[in-house]
Amino acid sequence: MKVAVFSCKPYDKRTLEAATQNSSDVELFFFESRLSSETVSLANGFDAISCFVNDDLSRDILEQLSTFGIKAVALRCAGYNNVDLYCAKALAIPVFHVPDYSPTSVAEHAVALILTLNRKIHRAYHRVKEGNFALEGLMGFNLEGKTVGCIGTGRIGQAFCRIMAGFGCRVICYDLAPNDELIEYGAEYVDLETLYADSDIISLHCPLNASTHHLINKTSLDKMKNGVMIINTSRGALVNAQEAIDGLYNGKIGHLGLDVYEQEGKFFFEDMSDHIIYDSVFQLLLTFPNVIVTGHQGYFTDIALRHIADTTLENLAQLNDA
Ligand code: NAD
Repeated sequence: MKVAVFSCKPYDKRTLEAATQNSSDVELFFFESRLSSETVSLANGFDAISCFVNDDLSRDILEQLSTFGIKAVALRCAGYNNVDLYCAKALAIPVFHVPDYSPTSVAEHAVALILTLNRKIHRAYHRVKEGNFALEGLMGFNLEGKTVGCIGTGRIGQAFCRIMAGFGCRVICYDLAPNDELIEYGAEYVDLETLYADSDIISLHCPLNASTHHLINKTSLDKMKNGVMIINTSRGALVNAQEAIDGLYNGKIGHLGLDVYEQEGKFFFEDMSDHIIYDSVFQLLLTFPNVIVTGHQGYFTDIALRHIADTTLENLAQLNDA
């Protein structure tokens, strides 16, 4: 089976090549380009494609892939909000994803953002590099005893709650489908209004869909404590960035940690060597000392990359066996 691998960075190529060493059934062809209307023709002549979070798998693209005879899409990620699943189903193109490659990697990244913001590590590091050891403005707070609200307690949310419980936090959760295991662990399910009202820190671990789009906006922020810390390692469009900026200006948001950003497809994954294109809202976010942004790296650990490569190949092998 010949597979075109889109959005393939050198590290993806290395782990996928290592994973294919024992398999002669799947032949991979690597493209750094993101799948889009401009690049979809690269898929012509292949049996399947493999994609990442930023690849465009909307109706038009899927229809073109179907005319090329593409038999499957193997996503190398957990989320699939970039895929028109109804259209894929109608075209009989199965879409595989990698749901469980390493929830701990993303959960730990959310915790890393919390600790960085709380202890102002990003600012302290720059000061010390300049020979400035002054502590003025760097005071943090203890996590022990704080209330942490987790929205979405699936694989990543659960791992996050367990870590935060270990810090001695009160962990409150909201999910459409509560998980009994977490209750036994000491976490408490509450309604969304209570979570907003009680939390010192809110971390988002639900998927992006019509009901969660811009979940964090002026209306929800108004229900939160002044100075709340918001962490988003899930999908960028869960947060209305402009309204978050208003919240940063008026002190409603005390700290904001983002691993994902609504417009990230435009620039996080592009080749940045020749040009850097930031939108103005993103640029403004970066000017706040109490904001930290990483470039969708929550998943990016050695174990996670290995699991992603192995599962992607298993998914493609299933297709070969069918
Ligand atoms: P999951 O499917 O295991 O869990 C999602 C949970 O959200 C489920 O329990 C579901 O019931 C709940 N949920 C759905 N709609 C909800 C709503 N409206 N309100 C509250 N809860 C709701 O998914 P997961 O593996 O834990 O991943 C969570 C998200 O993390 C993914 O959707 C993906 O967008 C993101 N993610 C980010 C990275 C990264 O590198 N930053 C990596 C992997 C996944």
